[in-house]
Amino acid sequence: MTITDDELRERVKTLLKEVDPHSTDQFTFRGAQFDAGLAMVYFPEGKGGLGLGRGKQTVIDEVLREAKVPYHDLMINPIGIGMGAPVVLQYGTEEMHDKHLKKIFTGEDIWCQLFSEPTHGSDVAGIPSRAMRDGDEWIVNGQKVWTTLAHTSNYGMLLTRTNPDAPKHKGLSYFVLDMHAPGVEVRPLFQITGEAEFNEVFMTDVRINDDQRLGGEGDGWMVAITTLMNERVALGGGSSGRGGGPIRFLTNLWNKTKDDLDPVTRQTIGDKVARLWAEAEVLRWTNQRLKVVSKANREAGPIGSVGKLMSAEMNQRIFEICLDLQGANGMLHESGYPMVRSEEVMGATNYSGQFLRSRANTIEGGTSEIMRNILGERVLGLPGDVRVDKEVPWSEIPK
Ligand SMILES: Cc1cc2nc3c(=O)[nH]c(=O)nc-3n(C[C@H](O)[C@H](O)[C@H](O)COP(=O)(O)OP(=O)(O)OC[C@H]3O[C@@H](n4cnc5c(N)ncnc54)[C@H](O)[C@@H]3O)c2cc1C
Repeated sequence: MTITDDELRERVKTLLKEVDPHSTDQFTFRGAQFDAGLAMVYFPEGKGGLGLGRGKQTVIDEVLREAKVPYHDLMINPIGIGMGAPVVLQYGTEEMHDKHLKKIFTGEDIWCQLFSEPTHGSDVAGIPSRAMRDGDEWIVNGQKVWTTLAHTSNYGMLLTRTNPDAPKHKGLSYFVLDMHAPGVEVRPLFQITGEAEFNEVFMTDVRINDDQRLGGEGDGWMVAITTLMNERVALGGGSSGRGGGPIRFLTNLWNKTKDDLDPVTRQTIGDKVARLWAEAEVLRWTNQRLKVVSKANREAGPIGSVGKLMSAEMNQRIFEICLDLQGANGMLHESGYPMVRSEEVMGATNYSGQFLRSRANTIEGGTSEIMRNILGERVLGLPGDVRVDKEVPWSEIPK
């Protein structure tokens, strides 16, 4: 289908006229957006999209932002929208598409990602959790860690080992896990900000029907890679407008405080603010360009690691300067450290909270070192990292 940007804008405006987002609840408005193909415009028609390139989503987001739609943000269901939906679309059956895609987009079903385990994060292909076949079902045992939003999720993307005698990348399978199934236990992990958006998830004799498998038996690594590439695009490629996103925190604070600074500090910090603003703008353009060059213009590729790497490192610098601007007050964490189990994502709204939260940016979704490895190997074609256990059966790798 060819459709101009103006035609796309008209479609969004028609949606806004037909379903007023200010007097309609989130599920209804976003459901209508999905039905109109304006949810994930790069998805096929009838599945929330119009079969267009990823870059066109920005056109839609701009109109929604101008209309101040209160819930058009990825944060409604970051893992579901950013990763769950693309992976269900690519590897799921028609039945799974019908069951999940719309509810992921509306936020009715929150999703989480069950990859990392206590012994394996960067080297997630080596995870020891196990699924054993029992007729049409699998019985899963093991532990996941750092599972963002597991406590509010209905479904999880589960990577687990189904064949320990195959090399580590070849013995994994990938399932959609019902987070309310018997044997799934979610426990909070309190973090440096005092919140608990992350969890440990324990699986004890959890039964999953084989029809909940995404991809072939033993093909879990391939499905996981698709998920991770989409994660990096989602983490790095926020669609906020010019001057929006984390840099807005800094410019707002700068405008509030700059007149109280002595001339030297004002000059020094002012230079840093200007440099970061320019970097944020470069990141925004880079993300727009990445969306256009993504494989077949519809899929996330390894190049998405550019945005993830840049945004993670930039966020940390932004919030460091926010603290500098507050002088000695920057050392205080206004809200104290109440242990809270927020229903919302990333509840930290103060500068010190954001500063502390941004420490995780260079770890979550793959560390910056791993991003550099991916970019070196898979984008620039440099020689690969040393991997001595790649061809060895997983069961024979020393633990
Ligand atoms: C805030 C947050 C949210 C998260 N959410 C989720 C989630 O929802 N679901 C999920 O499954 N996981 C989640 N994670 C886990 C995350 O994916 C892992 O923490 C991450 O992949 C790193 O793994 P690790 O912590 O085991 O560190 P390790 O893999 O043990 O790494 C330790 C250090 O070694 C470096 N290193 C490791 N291997 C290499 C290498 N080959 N080359 C160079 N350096 C290397 C790393 O860069 C790092 O500095 C989350 C983590 C955080 C912090």
